[in-house]
Amino acid sequence: MNLTKEEVKAMNKAILLSTPHMSGKEQDYIQEAFDTNWIAPLGPNVTEFEQKIKQYTGASAVCATSSGTAAIHLALRLLEVGPDDMVFCSSFTFIASANPIKYLGADVTFIDSEPETWNMSPQALERALADAKKEHRLPKAVIIVHLYGQSAKIDELVTICESYGVPIIEDAAESMGSTYKGQQSGTFGDFGIYSFNGNKIITTSGGGALVAKDPKMIEKAVFLATQAKEKALHYEHEQIGYNYRMSNVLAGIGRAQMEVLDDRIAARQNNFRFYADQWKHIQEVEMMPELQNSVSNHWLSAITLDIDKTDMTPYDVMAKMQELGIETRVLWKPLHSQPVFAATPFYEHVQGEEAVCEQLFRKGLCLPSGSNLTQEELEYVSKALETVLKTNKGGVVSAI
Ligand SMILES: *Cc1c(COP(=O)(O)O)cnc(C)c1O
Repeated sequence: MNLTKEEVKAMNKAILLSTPHMSGKEQDYIQEAFDTNWIAPLGPNVTEFEQKIKQYTGASAVCATSSGTAAIHLALRLLEVGPDDMVFCSSFTFIASANPIKYLGADVTFIDSEPETWNMSPQALERALADAKKEHRLPKAVIIVHLYGQSAKIDELVTICESYGVPIIEDAAESMGSTYKGQQSGTFGDFGIYSFNGNKIITTSGGGALVAKDPKMIEKAVFLATQAKEKALHYEHEQIGYNYRMSNVLAGIGRAQMEVLDDRIAARQNNFRFYADQWKHIQEVEMMPELQNSVSNHWLSAITLDIDKTDMTPYDVMAKMQELGIETRVLWKPLHSQPVFAATPFYEHVQGEEAVCEQLFRKGLCLPSGSNLTQEELEYVSKALETVLKTNKGGVVSAI
């Protein structure tokens, strides 16, 4: 259905991509931190928050961190990644997935996506590992991302990595609460990381968590995240550490957010289903595919456009949606095509064809996906996209 002038006028609030959604109980836990004067990067809120993540995900141990990026950095350190080592990473992701590789002076090889999940292609990974083995330079880790909440083909990827003896770090920053064959995203690899940045499915304003198969690794993570302070009566240091622990004040927000995680997931899944239902008759729009045996938290609802039919790029659509007060965003620009990673090796899904992640970047768009969107706002967005796609490239939508 099309938007009317009246509907555009009546919508006097910007509709954003993904905003924090508080439950109201956060203040109680923050107050507790103040009442007990635990205003520090440790304390009861941190312990409780970690306990809740552990219970929810089934991970064997958890370390809350100051960010998701810090958690990736810690995981790479624990796998003893250093200068001149190699690490493989998904290309189709936010740059935070790969930055910690460079913090440690290591080299990176990027791996393409495959079309069914938009995540790491098992066949490209297999080829990259076979080549690396020939060159006697197997990676110290493979960082696998679950984009927009959609699980990668994790069974296949795990089997391939195991056959080469290479550990996995799952970047589950966007996929907390998603499952694959009933198992929680982030718990398949040797390490998993979550992010609680302001735009994520739940938030502590800024923060993250590291989980690991081996609880001893989490003990070491806590050690490294608190300046690698040895047990002694004075300050004794045998290694270089970091200041990466989560604040007890922010963990109070996290405690309350964990209590509503299931509601937040249900709301975002509902957004995706609503859009899918509204646009099923629009041939130019395809929803992000869903992998069998997996449940996505649908952190962001993403689509691809048939840009030959629309005669509009995602940037054109983004600009027109903006005119209607709606924030949308093109998909992640592949990291192998970022200037900062120029001349970095990259393995395509099918050799010699346009990379899958490049195609997706050319065609894709993320839509408003917050768990706090109202039914009215969802309807407005769905009508807006339909309206925008009916205008031609030069047309002005606000004049409808
Ligand atoms: C948000 C995000 C991160 C980084 O998390 P921060 O908490 O912002 O450091 C890492 N990887 C992906 C895929 C993300 O979306």
